[in-house]
Amino acid sequence: MYPRIVVNTEKFKENLKFMINECHKRGVSVMGVSKVFCGDENLVQMMEDEGVDFIADSRISNLAKTDTYVPKVLLRLPMISEAEDVVMYSHISLNSELETIKELNNKAKNLDTVHNIILMIDLGDLREGIFEENEILSTVEEILKLKNIKLYGIGTNLTCYGGVIPSKETLEKLINYKNKIENKFKITLDIITGGNSSNIPLMMENEMPKGINNLRLGEILVLGRETAFGNFLDSMHDDVFTLYAEVIEVKIKPSVPVGDIGMNAFGKVPSFNDKGDIVRAILAIGQQDVDYRELVSEEGIDLIGSSSDHIIADVTKYEGKIKVGNVIKFKLTYASILSLFTSQYVGIYYE
Ligand SMILES: *Cc1c(COP(=O)(O)O)cnc(C)c1O
Repeated sequence: MYPRIVVNTEKFKENLKFMINECHKRGVSVMGVSKVFCGDENLVQMMEDEGVDFIADSRISNLAKTDTYVPKVLLRLPMISEAEDVVMYSHISLNSELETIKELNNKAKNLDTVHNIILMIDLGDLREGIFEENEILSTVEEILKLKNIKLYGIGTNLTCYGGVIPSKETLEKLINYKNKIENKFKITLDIITGGNSSNIPLMMENEMPKGINNLRLGEILVLGRETAFGNFLDSMHDDVFTLYAEVIEVKIKPSVPVGDIGMNAFGKVPSFNDKGDIVRAILAIGQQDVDYRELVSEEGIDLIGSSSDHIIADVTKYEGKIKVGNVIKFKLTYASILSLFTSQYVGIYYE
């Protein structure tokens, strides 16, 4: 079936082996993040086989179908309305709202279990987490009163909304909070989770403060790309995933539409550069599956637009010959892997 994603399992395993080892030798445990491939069970299995310490996902529905012996972590703050599922299908969830934590406590009590939480602290990136020190301490105090909740640790998330790059100084604030909480309440926090793939440059330079003992890693594992500066690591693979799409029309046509220009398929008025006649190929994949601007094509294949179910390529400069029925391959980015896995029209194959 086309379109299809082909996963090179050897390359994925090599990425996992390399990065898990880099983390473990520095005393950092790894949450393998499965959301970019929608919790695909074969890929989760490889993460488990290569030694991730946790499986983490932002959607509880992905964790619900995940069968693994390592603890499961819900990354996105729970919705109050899904509290019961969160307790049932994850061992640990990241939280910042006392109201939600209380509801998790209620559900955990009903289910006769204890749910672990990691309290998220906002160090300035301004997505999730508690920002004010007083609120952090008062929230901890309230959490400790809840019998069916265990405060498993604290964490932070950077380079997601605000683009804040993890630095030694920023992460030391997290260690300070850990020390304050442990001293004030006479407790031990098991886990201090310092961030995501954007922490990798700091960690590889051995500049990540001691005490950060966990990272939650997605992009670095699937693409070998750290997300602070966007660099690819030489010792990792950036082509674990390849997309193959089939050509359904090839014709020489003008580069500019003929007639008065109104709205396109998405209600926008398009504009065009006149390059004269070009060789246009249509691929049987569209906006519903992926944003064409996130596909990395071979030399000479220039993606110029899409509608819901079609991507149009200018293949005038392509050296080889493209015929109807041919299959064209693309390297992928984080965003395109995410949306292709989400599309039910895309097949997933393993080699
Ligand atoms: C997605 C996510 C991660 C993983 O991010 P990558 O950049 O893919 O490593 C980590 N933490 C949280 C809270 C997330 O939502």
